[in-house]
Amino acid sequence: MSFEIRDRDLLARIGKFETKSGVIETPLLLPVINPTVQPVLPKTLQEEFECKSLMTNAYIIKRNFENIAVKKGIHGFLDFSGVIMTDSGAYQILVYGDVSTSPEEIVRYQEEIDTDIATILDVPTAWGVSKRHVRDTVDETLSRARKLAEEKSRDDIAWVGPVQGGQHLDLVARSAREMGRLPFQIHALGSPTTVMEQYLFDILVDMIATAKMNLPQDRPLHLFGAGHPFMFALVVALGCDFFDSAAYAIYARGNRYMTEYGTTRLGDLEYLPCSCPMCAKNDPKSLMATPKVERQAMLAKHNLHVSFTELNRIKQAIVEGRLWEHLELRAHGHPSLLSALKKMGKYSEYLEKQSPVTKKSGIFFFSARGVARPEVARHRIRILERYSPPRGATVLVLLPQTRTKPFHKSKEQQRALKEIRHRICDEIDKIHLCTYAAPFGVIPMELNEVYPLSQHEIATPLDAETTTYVAKQIANYIETTNYEKIILLQDAEVWKGKVLASFRRACKKKKVPFTVLRGRKPWDKNTLDDFVTAIQNALAQ
Ligand SMILES: [Zn+2]
Repeated sequence: MSFEIRDRDLLARIGKFETKSGVIETPLLLPVINPTVQPVLPKTLQEEFECKSLMTNAYIIKRNFENIAVKKGIHGFLDFSGVIMTDSGAYQILVYGDVSTSPEEIVRYQEEIDTDIATILDVPTAWGVSKRHVRDTVDETLSRARKLAEEKSRDDIAWVGPVQGGQHLDLVARSAREMGRLPFQIHALGSPTTVMEQYLFDILVDMIATAKMNLPQDRPLHLFGAGHPFMFALVVALGCDFFDSAAYAIYARGNRYMTEYGTTRLGDLEYLPCSCPMCAKNDPKSLMATPKVERQAMLAKHNLHVSFTELNRIKQAIVEGRLWEHLELRAHGHPSLLSALKKMGKYSEYLEKQSPVTKKSGIFFFSARGVARPEVARHRIRILERYSPPRGATVLVLLPQTRTKPFHKSKEQQRALKEIRHRICDEIDKIHLCTYAAPFGVIPMELNEVYPLSQHEIATPLDAETTTYVAKQIANYIETTNYEKIILLQDAEVWKGKVLASFRRACKKKKVPFTVLRGRKPWDKNTLDDFVTAIQNALAQ
């Protein structure tokens, strides 16, 4: 059982996980099959959807079909030859308080039915209970996890070690650390049901990020119950490799029609915004007139189509390095998702450590949300911790960004550079030319072509939060370097007063003399003349 990673973006991984019934690719959606109610048969999943894996509940099967499933094996019993993952009844503990089986029994039963991926009977952390109770669920789950080694008798089944702790992040961290020391092949984040039902996605970000930071990176992470396609981008970006969906069937039962950006009641639709085989042949009226059982099956199929399609979009975005852009698009589908995206800013340095350094294409900045991107965090860290200005450069010259990149090849900066070279030929090494640009901050000219400092596009006019971020980065740069003089050329069209105020404050704090050339037309001849004169004066003093 190995997990091989082929592509990454943010914390997402396209990888291959090997099981005894075949290799599955992450990120992976496992449709949940309830053996007592099946709107879509497992065989149909395999034939119509080319679905390679599903999830079912070993506890429900044990209670309703104990011996038949053992005799036929779970693959024969469900008539599905792909990879089968079984849950253990933990969800039933959460709903009914207890289950009529023991942890040992459920381990043995999962081996007997020959499942491919099995889950220990963990004790889920309920929502809104005391911290003491949460601690008990973490401890009891860990104690059951430790006993697995003695209880299991075969080594060809992958076991899932669930992480508990709910919204208590210190307990999630401990649960993940201790679970990660045990020989599990997969981990799972348990009991986020209430969090998801109530759309508390910002809390979910904390829970997933905390679990990720404390679990071994080489094992896949499963998120229980994340079945709606509108949140796939978020959970995949946070590093969930597997997730299961019972939602496709549950929603269908309530005439709820899933889309990649939310849910609509079938009765409220005038058009079907999808072209899957079911939607292509129907309209909302004809669907509403279809007998109930048939309609539910049709809706369940549509819901599955929309889920698998969204997952493919996400995978393609990972390959192209555009998962952040896709995530931003989805985050604007619901305010709770946007809150979650904002919360990701808290983890931008962790995202930076895990994300690839270069990508196949440039990146897009739509708003201040993009400031949390790993690429922005990387530039900030590089400049503050690892960068030293060229030796002998005593005057810092800050030029405004241009539309054309690399900045020094734009006609505006070329004009300035020509003037500078012409008038300051022998002292050119004493000046350090940098550009201040959104959303990165100060970009030394010699780094202009480092990815993605030239390979990005940003929407203008800049929003206030982005401007504040850049102003802060300029101030940080000034405070951590030791120039003797600083000259800033302002572009009043792009940069409002905030950048200037922050620049002045930083220079005064550092006690470094500075000059500002202000203007609506920073690149016209007169302003540039004054600008180069200011540089000459700075060098002469
Ligand atoms: Zn459809």
